[in-house]
Amino acid sequence: MPDAAQLFKEWSGYLKPEDLSQLESAYHFSEAAHEGQFRQSGEPYITHPLAVANILAQWHLDSQALTAALLHDVMEDTSVTKAELSRNFGKPVADLVDGVSKLDQIEFETQKEAHAENFRKMVLAMARDVRVILIKLADRLHNMRTLDAVEPEKRRRIARETLEIYAPIANRLGLNSIYQELEDLSFRYLYPVRYQVLSRAVKAARGNRREVVSRVMEAIKRRLKEARVDAEVQGREKHLYSIYDKMREKRVSFAQVLDVFGCRIIVRDVPSCYVALGALHSLYKPIPGKFKDYIAIPKANGYQSLHTTLFGPLGTPIEVQVRTAEMHKIAEAGVAAHWLYKSSDTTLNELHKKTHQWLKSLLELQSESGDSVEFLEHLKVDLFPDEVYVFTPKGRILALPRGATAVDFAYAVHTDIGNRCVAAKINQELMPLRSELRNGDRVEIITASHAKPNPLWLNFVVTAKARSHIRHFLKTMHFHESAQLGERLLNQALAAFKSSLLEIKEAHWDKLLRDTGGKSRQEVLADIGLGKRLAVVVARRLLSLGEPSPQERALPGSVVIRGSEGMAVQLAKCCKPIPGDPIIGIISKGQGMIIHTHDCQVIAKTRNDPEKLLDVEWDPEIRKPFDVSIKLVVANRRGVLAKVAAEIAEAGSNIQNVGVEPEDGGTYTTMLFTLQVGNRLHLAQIMRALRRIPEVTRLARVKS
Ligand code: MN
Repeated sequence: MPDAAQLFKEWSGYLKPEDLSQLESAYHFSEAAHEGQFRQSGEPYITHPLAVANILAQWHLDSQALTAALLHDVMEDTSVTKAELSRNFGKPVADLVDGVSKLDQIEFETQKEAHAENFRKMVLAMARDVRVILIKLADRLHNMRTLDAVEPEKRRRIARETLEIYAPIANRLGLNSIYQELEDLSFRYLYPVRYQVLSRAVKAARGNRREVVSRVMEAIKRRLKEARVDAEVQGREKHLYSIYDKMREKRVSFAQVLDVFGCRIIVRDVPSCYVALGALHSLYKPIPGKFKDYIAIPKANGYQSLHTTLFGPLGTPIEVQVRTAEMHKIAEAGVAAHWLYKSSDTTLNELHKKTHQWLKSLLELQSESGDSVEFLEHLKVDLFPDEVYVFTPKGRILALPRGATAVDFAYAVHTDIGNRCVAAKINQELMPLRSELRNGDRVEIITASHAKPNPLWLNFVVTAKARSHIRHFLKTMHFHESAQLGERLLNQALAAFKSSLLEIKEAHWDKLLRDTGGKSRQEVLADIGLGKRLAVVVARRLLSLGEPSPQERALPGSVVIRGSEGMAVQLAKCCKPIPGDPIIGIISKGQGMIIHTHDCQVIAKTRNDPEKLLDVEWDPEIRKPFDVSIKLVVANRRGVLAKVAAEIAEAGSNIQNVGVEPEDGGTYTTMLFTLQVGNRLHLAQIMRALRRIPEVTRLARVKS
């Protein structure tokens, strides 16, 4: 390996003088920090960061990335702090080094493929800046190239991690040549014997075929010349691991995998690609079904080429890729292509913009072709991270949406843990439950058996699971508390009649539920607690159902309402009661009795004046229609009013009045209907029918 001075000279080919002087000072800083440290090979440690920086220089990465590469191990392996780096080399460089160090801290332990996938996502999500990944990949590449010096056990672990985590990441970013090298190196250290056997066999097979191959190449070149296509023709060989993988995955023999000759044709522009393809198809017959046009429909990672397979001489298939020089750059270098081929005066910001634009265009291409949705999903998660990945105490990785808190984590682990959590330990430190989680956090939830969800949590949880469980719990609790309050109120009301709940028989409760359409005793009690029913009314009712007793005989029986009593009995205009509604009468001087529903606000005001309240009930034989108001919000579409009116008529009701008010710049309209219905059941039927109209977005009965 060339020494530092030589490398700086090489790098000066594309870097500015002031960049180089910063790199030199970073080199000296790093050398001093790693003083006395050695690699397994016995070389001074500084040779490693220098080599990593040099790999990045081959991709023409900017000087910040190279500076960070020279310093990438100082935070991890020496006492240098981030603040110190920031002071000496600026915040962007310190952030890059910090990002790489964080990746080094997470250790890949598990064997499962699904975990490997999450782990890859975590690595990508943790590296906000794509340069962090590029530095990490260069670091890994150099470590793999020098893995010989490492002891066998550690060698296998690193090779497996590279194969399962880093090579796929390189592939995903389109860094083709790095991807292949990482795979082959991993293969070599993970399965040394298989690697040896296969590599020898491949060498031999390729040697035997050399003559045929060169004949084919010559024939192709000649035909392209005749077609006046200016082209470069390259032989193409599969990398070893892909041969191995194909044999294993598709269960084909070595001969079958290798009995294919590959070649690549690089031309000037897109039209030439198609001309070249035509020329090839006239030279050798194409194998049906093998032609793919990735120029018209690029692959998800931006790859473009024409693919075809030809019947070669002696029946050997020839796999051909045809592409322009521009497409070739992208195919080989992927994301790094933008650094590699930047014009000298573009700033880093522009480069970032360009990379992001490239990624965005991939997304757009993707949505047009509708192909490989999965990749799109990954790309979104990986490079525009909207998820965080955290560890459970047992080392399992959980994916949560960005902004997720310790409470979200608790519910993600288990509902019971969420419902009983009281505190959280994040990276061994006691933290409040509202703490936002960051990538790589190790989270432990502390629970207490009597703990309950807190309504305030709803202000900060972000996952649907946590939200719905907290809501559910509060609602159940609310119901429970209302029922308890209702029980107290009812007991109080019964006490006024010198009775108590204990004296009420089961059968009376049953009859009350049947008469009033209640579901359970708890529900009636909760209704009382919530003010939907009046305790005094329920008390009277319960007592009147009992065997005649002196007190009860003294009670006035409830007044039966038929709705046709004339001026003496009026239905309140505020709540417009209809048969089936629990009702109550208010005696009002000069106006006779006014009937309200139990939950009407007017009743709430009169509650302190129980003398004025009168227990009333509907005549079960009632047959006349009653007015009721409903409010609809509908999407503004042609004919929607007619649809609504038709449904109402269909349900056997008359419309007494319609009011329409436009809303929200005309997207939605609120309609107010006054309808005639027989009773609650009838109204429920009408509302059900109206809800089935697609344009209806909201629907409610109007009281008050
Ligand atoms: Mn390193």
